[in-house]
Amino acid sequence: MAVTRLPSTIHEPLLWEYAESRESTEIVEIDDRYGLFIDGEMRKPESGNYFPTINPATEEELAMVAEAGEPDVDAAVVAARNAYEGEWGSMPPPERAKLIFRIARMVQERSRELAVLETMDGGKPIKESRDVDLPLVAAHFFYYAGWADKLEYAFPGLDPKPLGVAGQVIPWNFPLLMLAWKVAPALATGNAVVLKPAETTPLTALAFAQLTSEAGLPPGALNVVTGAGGTGALVVSHPDVDKVAFTGSTHVGKLIQDELAGSSKRLTLELGGKAAHVIFEDAPLDQAIEGVINGIFFNQGHVCCAGSRLLVEESIHDRFVDKLKRRLTTLRVGDPMDKNTDVGAINSRAQLEKINELVDSGVSEGAEMFQPDCVLPERGFFFKPTLFTGVSQSHRIAQEEIFGPVLSIMSFRTPQEAVEKANNTPYGLSAGVWTTKGSRILWMADRLKAGVVWANTFNKFDPASPFGGYKESGFGREGGRHGLLAYLDWGDG
Ligand code: NDP
Repeated sequence: MAVTRLPSTIHEPLLWEYAESRESTEIVEIDDRYGLFIDGEMRKPESGNYFPTINPATEEELAMVAEAGEPDVDAAVVAARNAYEGEWGSMPPPERAKLIFRIARMVQERSRELAVLETMDGGKPIKESRDVDLPLVAAHFFYYAGWADKLEYAFPGLDPKPLGVAGQVIPWNFPLLMLAWKVAPALATGNAVVLKPAETTPLTALAFAQLTSEAGLPPGALNVVTGAGGTGALVVSHPDVDKVAFTGSTHVGKLIQDELAGSSKRLTLELGGKAAHVIFEDAPLDQAIEGVINGIFFNQGHVCCAGSRLLVEESIHDRFVDKLKRRLTTLRVGDPMDKNTDVGAINSRAQLEKINELVDSGVSEGAEMFQPDCVLPERGFFFKPTLFTGVSQSHRIAQEEIFGPVLSIMSFRTPQEAVEKANNTPYGLSAGVWTTKGSRILWMADRLKAGVVWANTFNKFDPASPFGGYKESGFGREGGRHGLLAYLDWGDG
């Protein structure tokens, strides 16, 4: 609560206490029960089954959501096929572009409501859903709307054609943004979509689907089927789906790749990561500290490209770690709806258990743990921002994706050693380098096996910039002109 007690005499010091600043949830209306969005309307699931979606910051149930089974997924794919072969598929590209622009503008107009809903359903701090997720969602739709009537200029002489029906499965860490990364290029290229949001974060996808109807998107061009992994598997394996786009764990990505092997379905996979964040001694240290904090604590570390392995040049290791610890103690952890919160709620109890298990392994394997002395809310799923020093490369916390607010710190002596350690992972999604030497940035970027290398910054996203992985982080690119490729075929086959 907000209290600033004024001193009664000039000798008594001013007492400053924290004043929270809660975003109101009144702007959001949540129904008790949600159906499936198929062929432009909300439908009851054939099975009659529903599952709860909860607010991970309070553990309160927000709504019951339909679980799509085989007949529902089939109906969604049939609706998508009909839209593709009907009104949506035959729509002239400039009209398609106008519709996607309209969707982008409506996302902007309703961004406050969508941001609040995203935070309630997923637990991320409101300042992130408001200032990062929603602006990027709108930017993706604006960007791809621009391409919709210019595809022949994007790929001159190739006569690009849509693939048909795209089945898309997305995770819970950026529910609306991952939707935008997938739906915007699919619609811009004239495909119809069946989307499966994550079980723990279905609400913004359903709100978005209704928004597209209001925008005038023809029925069936976008269908949203909610459910758990089984529903995702039904989407992926449906025989009339032409293209599968998946973002999530490497484990499930491998299952999907196995399933689709030998079929004519096109596939893109955006999987896990264990990014190295490399700090050279000549780096601007205060800025690097902010970059490291943003790299691992943004969205509670539920970020596939999170900078979860910090490699610090040995000469500055101790000084850098001291600064980092000091900065950790200033992070505000707790109610995601408070506009000052830096680290919100962990998305689910299951994810919290996974983080706990890996952090325990770090302690038992001999790394030294540091956590700030902050008080966590009594209800909800929360985890203190954590860092480990004395980490060796074989420790599980240096190898496995924790997907939580946990940083593993190691040191290096030469740029060659930094590259070797950075690349010593089955993943290859992203990396970061901090140094004042431009030539060293280029030298490192050439050698780091990562789809994205940030220099003197981290977690910067732009719809015009392609994003994707190497090795077990997947294949295919989302964003930019490259992002169109996954949804196009060439006229002459
Ligand atoms: P999953 O890979 O299980 O989930 C991602 C999406 O795939 C969800 O919509 C999920 O449904 C769905 N899904 C699950 N099983 C299948 C299947 N057999 N076929 C098709 N779709 C399926 O990730 P989790 O949510 O279980 O998270 C586990 C770990 O994965 C995290 O700790 C993290 O390490 C990593 N992860 C990485 C992400 C990334 O962006 N790279 C994103 C999310 C997780 P449902 O949610 O309903 O189960």
